[in-house]
Amino acid sequence: VPGRIVVVGSGAAGIGAAAAAKAIDPSAEVTIYSGSGDAAGGFDRLFLAGPQTCLDAGIVLRHGPRITAIDLDRRAVDVEGEGAAGWDRLVITAGSEPAGAGALPTDLEGLYAVGNIPSDEEWDRVLAGAKVAVVVEATAPGLEMVTALAERGIETHLVDPRASTLAGAADPDIAAPVEESWAEMGVKTHFNTRVEGLLGEGRVRGVRTSEGELPADVVVVCSRPPAGNDLAAAAGLVVSSGGGIKVDERMATSAAGVWAAGECIDLPGGARFPLQDSGSQAYAQGRVAGTNAAGGSRAYQPAYVPWSLPAGRWTLGGVSFGETQATAAGMPYVLGKATGISRARYYPDVKKVTVKLLAEPGSLRLIGAQMVGGEGIKERADFLGMAVKMGITLTDLAFMENVYSPPIGALNEPIAVAAQNGLATLEASR
Ligand SMILES: Cc1cc2nc3c(=O)[nH]c(=O)nc-3n(C[C@H](O)[C@H](O)[C@H](O)COP(=O)(O)OP(=O)(O)OC[C@H]3O[C@@H](n4cnc5c(N)ncnc54)[C@H](O)[C@@H]3O)c2cc1C
Repeated sequence: VPGRIVVVGSGAAGIGAAAAAKAIDPSAEVTIYSGSGDAAGGFDRLFLAGPQTCLDAGIVLRHGPRITAIDLDRRAVDVEGEGAAGWDRLVITAGSEPAGAGALPTDLEGLYAVGNIPSDEEWDRVLAGAKVAVVVEATAPGLEMVTALAERGIETHLVDPRASTLAGAADPDIAAPVEESWAEMGVKTHFNTRVEGLLGEGRVRGVRTSEGELPADVVVVCSRPPAGNDLAAAAGLVVSSGGGIKVDERMATSAAGVWAAGECIDLPGGARFPLQDSGSQAYAQGRVAGTNAAGGSRAYQPAYVPWSLPAGRWTLGGVSFGETQATAAGMPYVLGKATGISRARYYPDVKKVTVKLLAEPGSLRLIGAQMVGGEGIKERADFLGMAVKMGITLTDLAFMENVYSPPIGALNEPIAVAAQNGLATLEASR
C-alpha cells in the first residue's frame, strides 16, 4: 500500500506523476513540493489549469518549500524551514538546473538563459531598448526565441556550434525552409560557430565567438541545461556522469521505493529522444513513474515520441529517427519523401508540406519521420508516432485513406505520397 507519496517538483513530470498516482490509488496521500513560490514556474507554465486540477484530485500542492535532503534509510525528505516529512514512495522530478543559468555570470544585465526570461511586462521593457540580440544555440526554445525576436523587428543573430537548425533532431533538408524564412525575416545565422565568451561589464555588450565578435544588447542562452541532481546524488541514488538519475523503463531508480522522471533522468538504456527535454515527454514519463509508485505497472516507450514546433514561418515535426540520427546509429532504412500541400491549391494560405518516412528494410515497418510545413504537422506527428508504435508499414501508408476537404486538406495526403515514393524507389532498385 503506497500510503504517503511525495513528489519533488511541480513541473510537467511532477504533475503527471502526482495525477497518475492519485488515479491509480485514490486513497494515497500525494504531496507535491514545488520548490518555488513562483506560481508561474514549473508546470504552471505548461498546464495553466494544473493547480486547480491538483486540488480537485485531492493532491496537496505545496508551493514554496524546497526539499533540501533525501534520507533513503529513514524514508523522509527534509523540507526547507519545516523539517522532516516522511514518505512511503518518493518520485523525484526536480528538472534541470534552474534556468540553465548555472554556468552564466549573474551580474551582467541583458544576459538571459531560456528558463529565466522575465515576466511579459519586464521582458517587453528589456526588448523595447534592444536593437540587436544574440540567441545561443538552435535548440527547440532557441528556435522559438529567434523567431519571436525577429518578429519584433530586432536584428537577431543565432549562433550554434552545429551545422544546421535543431541538428540531430531535424535533418538539414527539413530545417532548410526554416533557415530560408529566417533569412527573409532578417535573422543572421552563424552555424559551425562556438560562443567562447561574453563581452561587457555590468551590461552585456555581445559575445565572442570562434568566428569573431558579435555585438548585442541582449543575449539569450538557449543551450540545454544540465540535469540538477545534487539532492539525488547526495542521497546515494545512482547518477550518471552526465548528471541524470539512472532509471529503468518503469522509471524506478536504483533505490527501492524511489522513482524519477523528466529532465532530471537519463533515459533507460541510454536511449535518446529526437528532441531532448520537452514537457510532453516529461509528462509521459511522470505518468509512468506515478503509476508505478502507486502500485500500478507501466513501462515507458521512448522511441515513438512525436515532436513538433513552429520555427520561422514553418512548423517542424517528426517521430523517432530522422536520416541524421538513423545514419549516426548505423541503422539501415528505406526512405520515402514527398512534398505536397496543406489544403487545396486554390485556397488562400495553402502551404507546402514535406514528409520524409524512414522504414525498416524488409519489413517496411515505419521507424521514423521528418516533416516541415504549416498547419497539420503536429497532428501528422501524433498520427505517425502511433503508426510507428503499431508497426504500420510503408505499404499501409501508401494506401491510407485521408480526409479531402479543400479548405483544410488536399486530395493527396503528403504522408501517402511519401510512402508511395518510397515503394516506387524500392521497386526501381530491384
Ligand atoms: C521557454 C521554454 C519553452 C518551452 N516550450 C516547450 C514546449 O512548447 N513544449 C514542450 O513540450 N516543452 C517545452 N519546454 C520544455 C519543458 O518546459 C520542460 O522540458 C519541462 O518543463 C520539463 O519538465 P520537468 O518536470 O522535468 O522539469 P521542470 O518543469 O523544470 O520542473 C522541475 C520542478 O522541480 C522543482 N524543484 C527543483 N529542485 C527542487 C527541490 N530541491 N525541491 C523541490 N522542488 C524542486 C522546480 O521548482 C520545478 O517545479 C520549454 C521550456 C522552456 C524553458
